[in-house]
Amino acid sequence: MLQAAESVTVLCHMNPDADAVGSALALGIALQRAGTSVQVSFASPAALTESLASLPGGELLVAAKQVAREVDLLVAVDCGSLGRLGALRDRTEGAQQTLAIDHHASNTHFGTANLVDCSAESTTVLVCDVLDEWGVQVDATIAHCLYAGLVTDTSSFRRARPQTHELAARFIAAGIDPVAVSRPLMYTHPFGWLGMLSAVLGRAVLDRSAAGGRGLAYVVVRSGDAAGLRPEETESVVDLVATISEAEVAAVFKQIDETVWSISMRAKSDVDVSVVASALGGGGHRLAAGYTAHGTAEEVIATLRTTLG
Ligand code: AMP
Ligand code: MN
Ligand code: MN
Repeated sequence: MLQAAESVTVLCHMNPDADAVGSALALGIALQRAGTSVQVSFASPAALTESLASLPGGELLVAAKQVAREVDLLVAVDCGSLGRLGALRDRTEGAQQTLAIDHHASNTHFGTANLVDCSAESTTVLVCDVLDEWGVQVDATIAHCLYAGLVTDTSSFRRARPQTHELAARFIAAGIDPVAVSRPLMYTHPFGWLGMLSAVLGRAVLDRSAAGGRGLAYVVVRSGDAAGLRPEETESVVDLVATISEAEVAAVFKQIDETVWSISMRAKSDVDVSVVASALGGGGHRLAAGYTAHGTAEEVIATLRTTLG
């Protein structure tokens, strides 16, 4: 499909992460090299977050409203459902074909073709398979994009199979500098991050009886807590809360608007948070999932508490 198309749009999920953008830009670079007309985009936010601007191929990105209405092939990467494309979901209507490349267990197979494998550590792993099959050389530029999704979605290779490390070795051999790729994505924050962490972590709650007695640790990040900081600072909080030994489940309630919240959940082993997220209108993976909720902080916390059991 990629070979046959003369025009291709590659779309990431809303608020894209390194796996979505890395997958999209790797495909975009390969398509551009093949002489194919290609646009890469996502519905929101308006611009790429600062950490992701470190990835090569950013010149292929176009604003959401500039995405062509008619195209030979639309590729959706790292999207579990059509809804995750946000306002750009209508672009599937003017596409001859839609190819979904994804690794979410909750994937709805919304494409006319679907490459979905929930055993893949990241969508970039699947994109690498596609590029290999297509005969595209994975050089340092493409490897940078693919490694970005791999290192972030495995939490720095904490969740990895032997093949995961073999793939990382291949990307390093192709010429990437793993420290230089990871630092802007995962280990760079402004000084104000420390103050925000100290405020929000100081209010953390441990609810030992939640999740059938396995425990829930949660933190509320209000808009005011993160004022002047990037989304990257707020996104970093859940990984800290997930280290708490007394809780199987960690949750961070991130205030988007007065009564709108984006919730990130993490589990250690025996609670499937993708089921909880799906029940609340979101999705994700067994041990990392999320959803959007409406109400006061107290209301959205109570709803999660009830759904977790
Ligand atoms: P996050 O907590 O934002 O890192 O997201 C963890 C996982 O949950 C990712 O795989 C996301 O794709 C998924 N996820 C987060 N928020 C949503 C949402 N509102 N709808 C569907 N999936 C989500
Ligand atoms: Mn993602
Ligand atoms: Mn992913």
